[in-house]
Amino acid sequence: MDLALRPEDEAFALEAREWFRRHGETPPPFGSMDEEVAWGRRWQARLAADRWVGIDWPPEHGGRGATAVQVALFNLEYARSGAPQPVNRVGINLAGPTLLAHGSEEQRRRWLPRILDATEIWCQLYSEPGAGSDLASLATRADAVEGGWRITGQKVWTSYAQFARWGLALARTDPDGPRQRGISCFAIDMEGPGVDIRPLVQITGDAEFNEVFLDAAFVPSDRLIGDLDAGWAVAGTTLAHERGTNFPFKEQVLHEARLDALYRLAVENGRLDDPLVADGLAQAFVELRVLRLHNWRTLSRLGRGEVPGPESSWVKLTWTAMTQHLSQLALDVVGEAAPLWGRADGNAADGAWQRQWLWSKAASIAGGTSEVQRTIIGERLLGLPRR
Ligand SMILES: Cc1cc2nc3c(=O)[nH]c(=O)nc-3n(C[C@H](O)[C@H](O)[C@H](O)COP(=O)(O)OP(=O)(O)OC[C@H]3O[C@@H](n4cnc5c(N)ncnc54)[C@H](O)[C@@H]3O)c2cc1C
Repeated sequence: MDLALRPEDEAFALEAREWFRRHGETPPPFGSMDEEVAWGRRWQARLAADRWVGIDWPPEHGGRGATAVQVALFNLEYARSGAPQPVNRVGINLAGPTLLAHGSEEQRRRWLPRILDATEIWCQLYSEPGAGSDLASLATRADAVEGGWRITGQKVWTSYAQFARWGLALARTDPDGPRQRGISCFAIDMEGPGVDIRPLVQITGDAEFNEVFLDAAFVPSDRLIGDLDAGWAVAGTTLAHERGTNFPFKEQVLHEARLDALYRLAVENGRLDDPLVADGLAQAFVELRVLRLHNWRTLSRLGRGEVPGPESSWVKLTWTAMTQHLSQLALDVVGEAAPLWGRADGNAADGAWQRQWLWSKAASIAGGTSEVQRTIIGERLLGLPRR
């Protein structure tokens, strides 16, 4: 593992750190997701104005052409600053890179600038009630009509659909073709006729994701992304970015801050004397160190121009266990008041630890379930026979 940074990468990280020091903001407490999203749009526009969004995108599309190492360093600095993550995450991390790889020049010029400054939020319409881990079994269909397609079907788990202007959607364009070959990718106007968005309230109390019903929703020809019936390759690009390297760097720093806050809370309320709590804190520290080592290895690989392969499944599993253990530990630290009271990162915010614990249940599902990650590790890293 070679951890020496090139001088230009160090300078890049310093520039980012300095920007966040001068411009980083702490959001006010939000009464609703609407307020949070409105604030998030303004914050992302501020970042975009100084070209700190989509930094690895080509400069002609608003990025800085940053290398993978610089993106990782940027994510560390961003998380360290404590500033909230950009609101148009699906647009920046999934739709944008997919459009850059498969979109026409006209589509890129139309959509990319509005993704960067959050003028138009995107959502990802891939999962369906019968197609999650096995995405190729999706049943939503696109029927060719004059000037485009009419799309009919049901999507689910669609994060931020209620705020989105565009949805990156997979639909079956050739019902008779082989499963993976008859799929195409479209940009759907989420405000258009035939699109019915129904928020789903989670155990956290928020409706982060939605069901989306498509009833012959019309999509003009120029909103096909990539070639007809070639949507599986387009989806491959999206999913590679979803399981990419941005996420673990940010999560490492956020959890380091959480563990610090938890330790201080345990000292304050005398819970450190409980051996279970003390052991839990030590265990959380170790698990976070393991994630940090994984990240260092990734950084070292990226620096050599390699791409992280199936070991990103291992990183995801490590993160899942770590965040779920730490969230459980938080309730042990809070103690008997756990159902009533909580606070995060030293700020008064009632119920924040409890909310984190509830959200952590999603960690073993979102972005690919733990079972599926274990299969990838077994088959592709350990060389076990395929099922
Ligand atoms: C917070 C959150 C946000 C999300 N946001 C989006 C979004 O914006 N857009 C979107 O398209 N999707 C989104 N998803 C959906 C996510 O991608 C799916 O939930 C995930 O792919 C799993 O699919 P599923 O829920 O249909 O479960 P299934 O695939 O039905 O799995 C059910 C259970 O069976 C197990 N299983 C399935 N196949 C296998 C196998 N081959 N071997 C062993 N076990 C197996 C799974 O591990 C799981 O325990 C989101 C999910 C979450 C939790």
